[in-house]
Amino acid sequence: MSWILAQAKVYIDDAFHDGYVKMNGSMIEEVGKGLPHVGPDDEVWNVRGAFVLPGLVNTHNHTPMTLLRGLGEGEPLKRWLEDVMWPREAMLSEEDVYWGTLLAQAEMIESGTTTFLDMYDRLHVIFEAVRLSGMRAVLARGMIGSEDPSVEAAKLKEAEDVSRRYHGALSGRITMMISPHGAYTCSSAFLKEIIELSRALSLPVTTHLAETRQELLTVKKREAMETIPYLEALGLFERPLLVAHAVHLSERDRETLARYDVRISHNPVSNLKLGSGIAPIPDLIRRGLTISLGTDGAASNNNYDLFEEMRMAALLHKGKEEDATLIHPNEALRMATAAGARALFLEHVIGKLAKGYRADLIIVRSDGLPYVPAHDDVANLVYNGRGSDVLGTIVDGRLLYWKGEHLTLDTERIRYEARLRAKRLA
Ligand SMILES: [Zn+2]
Repeated sequence: MSWILAQAKVYIDDAFHDGYVKMNGSMIEEVGKGLPHVGPDDEVWNVRGAFVLPGLVNTHNHTPMTLLRGLGEGEPLKRWLEDVMWPREAMLSEEDVYWGTLLAQAEMIESGTTTFLDMYDRLHVIFEAVRLSGMRAVLARGMIGSEDPSVEAAKLKEAEDVSRRYHGALSGRITMMISPHGAYTCSSAFLKEIIELSRALSLPVTTHLAETRQELLTVKKREAMETIPYLEALGLFERPLLVAHAVHLSERDRETLARYDVRISHNPVSNLKLGSGIAPIPDLIRRGLTISLGTDGAASNNNYDLFEEMRMAALLHKGKEEDATLIHPNEALRMATAAGARALFLEHVIGKLAKGYRADLIIVRSDGLPYVPAHDDVANLVYNGRGSDVLGTIVDGRLLYWKGEHLTLDTERIRYEARLRAKRLA
């Protein structure tokens, strides 16, 4: 028995076409233009001209930080991180992590995100929340260095244990990455051990890179080297790698990232909000790099609506470089879908509506006034779309959300728990 979304505007080869998507179990069975062939046992949903596109992919996040949303507003990044975020994150209990990530996941589901990368700790808790929500996730135990070698050893051991336990779990909905927090927060010895672990487990690495000028100065002072040549010498770029931010890059840095095909998570809203700068995305695209989108944690965004990130990515670089030809709406939509999948090393699994891909897709209303007229559906979606236009969210062929109702999560309870727990953190 197949499940067919018919009479849709389906995203095929960078454009929307009148057509259908046929799903069987967790997989996409067929995508086509026009009307589907319907078998006697098939279930057909007429979506009445709604957009059907691959689920959006958020490639950089720290979901439990949702409970810290609204704290430390207006502080510069260093103080925001060291004086506001880190002391409070140290107070987060396992229950806090659980409800914080569920709040984030509920927001993501209802705004059209089907896959997210989470860099955090207590991944066994986040894993349970993902099991419940039905989302697809890439989990990475974020590791910050310590003066105490036993603390670092314990983090490495934990990263190894959770990676072995969860990689490929939940019918492949979970994959793992290895994650040093950043070059400026880990010593070279610790970074070497982390790189070694990723090699031993054959897992990709994800890290923060060149988010602020300050962090680059910290590394230069400590290592007497620029950050990217330093990381290259450590062998980091020889691993499959996804970096978040990539804001402050020299000509040579950009060449290095391109040479190693490093995947980028562009977080335009977070970079603006924390005053970090604007990543040189059009230049990185010209060099052939994969640019995906991330929201970063809710404390620095302050939401998980990837439509906003798409729109920002499509507008920001035009303005900065005074060039309206940069980041075409198709490019922005690709960043949130196919490039997101590639950034997470899942390009053969998700990010595209085609036979053999996982059935991760979203249904977005196209009858709202800002979608009229439909001269350019992709431009309408990228410039006018918002998370609240999402009608339905499907992961692995399973409906998680439909017309305002969550089918896996109890949002009343999530709201109650998150409010309660946030009080202690204020
Ligand atoms: Zn981050």
